[in-house]
Amino acid sequence: MLKTVVSVALPVGEHLKIRKNVIQGNHTGKRLCVVTGTHGDELEGQFVCYELARRLNEGLEHLHGSVEIYPALNPLGIDSIERGFPGFDLDMNRIFPGVQNGHLAENTAYEIVQDLLNADMVLDIHSSNIFLKEVMQVRVSDITAETLVPYAKLLNTDFIWIHDAATVLESTLAHSLNINGTKTLVVEMGIGMRITREYGERLVQGIFNLMQSMEMWSGENDSNIANSEELNKTLSNKTRNSSEPTIANSILSTNGEVHFMNADASGIIIPSALHSSFVVEGERLCQIVDPFEGKVLQDILSPVDGFLFTLRTYPIVYEGSLIARIYEEKK
Ligand SMILES: [Zn+2]
Repeated sequence: MLKTVVSVALPVGEHLKIRKNVIQGNHTGKRLCVVTGTHGDELEGQFVCYELARRLNEGLEHLHGSVEIYPALNPLGIDSIERGFPGFDLDMNRIFPGVQNGHLAENTAYEIVQDLLNADMVLDIHSSNIFLKEVMQVRVSDITAETLVPYAKLLNTDFIWIHDAATVLESTLAHSLNINGTKTLVVEMGIGMRITREYGERLVQGIFNLMQSMEMWSGENDSNIANSEELNKTLSNKTRNSSEPTIANSILSTNGEVHFMNADASGIIIPSALHSSFVVEGERLCQIVDPFEGKVLQDILSPVDGFLFTLRTYPIVYEGSLIARIYEEKK
């Protein structure tokens, strides 16, 4: 059943409408909300919404409670291929929890939060930006880690990154909900303006794992997704639990350290290493080159042995830009 969450009149007679699809199961139970499209250039979540709705509609007799799907929290951004909230030059994930009767964007943020509060679980799906490719990961702040990591592990991701509280932005949707007692998991995966089908399918499988643990799903939950060749490659350095084939054995960041690599020069990136691979200390990740003079401006080498989970794929780079993040496991 489609419901309107926010409807605001725009200056020339149009309406800003944020809608959700409430999929009600045949039995009572909990409420899970899946939201995406806060950043208009991040589209990986669209496939997840489609596939989740499709599978749920085929098995409503197994659904206990309701799943609410919000494909577009920033519909104007999606329609205009803009990351932010158009017209305000505003990152929508920096204005939560919003302001009641505030300006258009603030009020929209407020209404979204009010609608999501009291859900039993919220999943907020992001997909990096057009510059950086991200491995499928859950991001959790350390103040919520104890509560959220057990759920995050069900989502079938390669990585769970637990951030310092200090680096968590207080104005994000996830933070606003978590501090008000509504459990919210943030998934980052793939790349802006693209859909990575394999990630989407794995996450949908993870959402069913999550629903099973919340006693929201009593149907089948088998899939060969976690046995896919690509995932096995990604997870080759880790032990898999063969009795639970649909749950990937995520790397947990608390056992090690995340290293950031930034550009020392502006230029063109020529890639070397493969995203989502395990790299060794001294291995070349990429080079920044000068196309005028044919010179290498910077050779970017891995400082450690580790898992290359973020990699810049957009070739133009400016001094200071993030190039890669590598997770080093401490022995
Ligand atoms: Zn985002």
